[in-house]
Amino acid sequence: MDKKTKALIIEDEIKLARFVELELKHEGYDVVVANNGRKGLELFESEKPDIILLDLMLPGLSGIEVCRRIRKESDVPIIMTTAKGEVMDKVLGLDNGADDYITKPFAIEEVLARMRVALKHRKTSVSTNSSLLTVKNLSLDLSKRTVRLDNNSIELTKREFDLLAYLIKNKNIVISREQILNKVWGYDYFGETNVVDVYIRYLRTKIDDKFGVKFIHTIRGVGYYVKDDED
Ligand code: CA
Repeated sequence: MDKKTKALIIEDEIKLARFVELELKHEGYDVVVANNGRKGLELFESEKPDIILLDLMLPGLSGIEVCRRIRKESDVPIIMTTAKGEVMDKVLGLDNGADDYITKPFAIEEVLARMRVALKHRKTSVSTNSSLLTVKNLSLDLSKRTVRLDNNSIELTKREFDLLAYLIKNKNIVISREQILNKVWGYDYFGETNVVDVYIRYLRTKIDDKFGVKFIHTIRGVGYYVKDDED
């Protein structure tokens, strides 16, 4: 038999959480429940759920914040539950990486249906465009656009990410500023080539300096490269 799908419910209304828990168990899910955001994050780390039902209005750490933190590490499906009328909050939830939202009060059948959709959707998107670039202990997930160094996630802007991805795709090869401009900024870029140096500095600040490592090397007058571990 297949391993059961594990759902994490993060909901501060105890009765509602209990009700959803029982319904999901009845449907064959493994269920873990947290009654606040912090506990929710803990259970997310320790239990590695396959899907998360996340209440927006939580005491302490808000649902949005919980969503944002989980999204930095994982593409697990997240369905936010919001009280009626919190329209702006719904938009905020989706902006912060939730897959879907359901307005309370909800019918449990609707929750189950949305969960099936989110799980199915996630399965297909993972199998079609999961792609990982690595150099030493640094890894870039091109589909999720996330960067990790060991267990630390690193936040990069779009341009920084594209630059780092380009360097890693060509690791151990020295790339000139012009090549970088061409590939990362596009041929229609008319600015100075020193914009590359500026962005290399940003990357070094966020990765090399912050973690005391050396990924990006300079060949003076020629360009830059990322060196893989060769010893
Ligand atoms: Ca609540």
